[in-house]
Amino acid sequence: MAKDNLTAVLHGIEDMRLEQRPIPEIADDEVLLAMDSVGICGSDVHYLAHGRIGDFVLTKPMIIGHESAGVVAKLGKKVTTLKVGDRVAIEPGVPCRSCDHCKLGKYNLCPGMVFCATPPYDGNLTRYYKHAADFCFKLPDHVTMEEGALLEPLSVGVHACKRAEVTLGSKVLILGAGPIGLVTLMAAQAMGASEILITDLVQQRLDVAKELGATHTLLLKRDQTAEETAELVQKTMGGQPDKSIDCCGAESSARLAIFATRSGGIVVVVGMGAPEVKLPLINALAREVDIRGVFRYCNDYAAALALVASGKVNVKRLVTHHFDIKETAKAFETSRKGLGGAIKVMIHVQPRDTNN
Ligand code: NAD
Repeated sequence: MAKDNLTAVLHGIEDMRLEQRPIPEIADDEVLLAMDSVGICGSDVHYLAHGRIGDFVLTKPMIIGHESAGVVAKLGKKVTTLKVGDRVAIEPGVPCRSCDHCKLGKYNLCPGMVFCATPPYDGNLTRYYKHAADFCFKLPDHVTMEEGALLEPLSVGVHACKRAEVTLGSKVLILGAGPIGLVTLMAAQAMGASEILITDLVQQRLDVAKELGATHTLLLKRDQTAEETAELVQKTMGGQPDKSIDCCGAESSARLAIFATRSGGIVVVVGMGAPEVKLPLINALAREVDIRGVFRYCNDYAAALALVASGKVNVKRLVTHHFDIKETAKAFETSRKGLGGAIKVMIHVQPRDTNN
């Protein structure tokens, strides 16, 4: 096996380095993966810029990256479900499997979760990486490695739609047309929503949403109140949405989600912005609008893979830029500044399409 294990390591704020790391030794229930594709997520950029997200603080060097797919290079002794050469999507969080949350099937809430590139745990923008075999999802031959990497954000969209109880005929408002808003749009369509309105402050993002099948798009103006925008939403949709999913994290957006949702409906908050915000709580409670949080995903990877494999969603459209791992700094700059209309920036650890 090659000795080269070039790895992208975040040492601190604005301090990302490419360096050689030892190839990891695997435990009996793990596989060694030759990494192929790793997408850049907003959280990766946030750690680079700020060194923390909420209570997760970078206190030691951390390998970045968690939206990923790789090829099985070595099997732990007890692994029977995979074989060397299998192409897999990597679900990046491995829970303890024994706490109450894990036992109840809500493993995304496990306090012992080991999640790639969430301090203090390393991610997988590296040539060789080890992972629990049961959190690797074998890709069918026709699903590309890039699509495998994109199962990560898609799983967030699937989970958000499940939390919102999107179903046949749902009228859905999605706030924010970034990668997460767009995967939520695709998941909502696949789950039977009949009408979807998506908002953003940037027309180009809304154009992509329209191309992906949004029924309506709404370009927001910063000087509009949430109540005014809620009226506009109602007018555009010919009624109030029964589900609203915030995918941007702005206070104004969460406020709009509450005002816009019909009485008895559901607001789901995916976007992570300021830790404390001002919300019209009485409006929500007096109209029995449920407000629900979303934290990553839980048992959603298989569904996300089925959506991609069946052709029901086209996540490929989200990828606007490609870089080699050696160009990691440039890739992060492109993602961070949205250069060239960047939506999802993909980093290739192997030359692109090597494993497709
Ligand atoms: P992004 O920044 O790329 O996209 C956000 C989009 O929202 C942008 O297009 C921006 O123009 C738009 N926007 C900003 N303010 C707006 C407003 N007031 N109204 C409407 N649109 C507005 O981010 P992303 O990668 O798509 O992620 C979206 C959010 O989801 C982030 O806050 C991220 O931290 C969060 N997130 C949460 C989870 C979770 O588990 N809860 C998982 C992944 C991402």
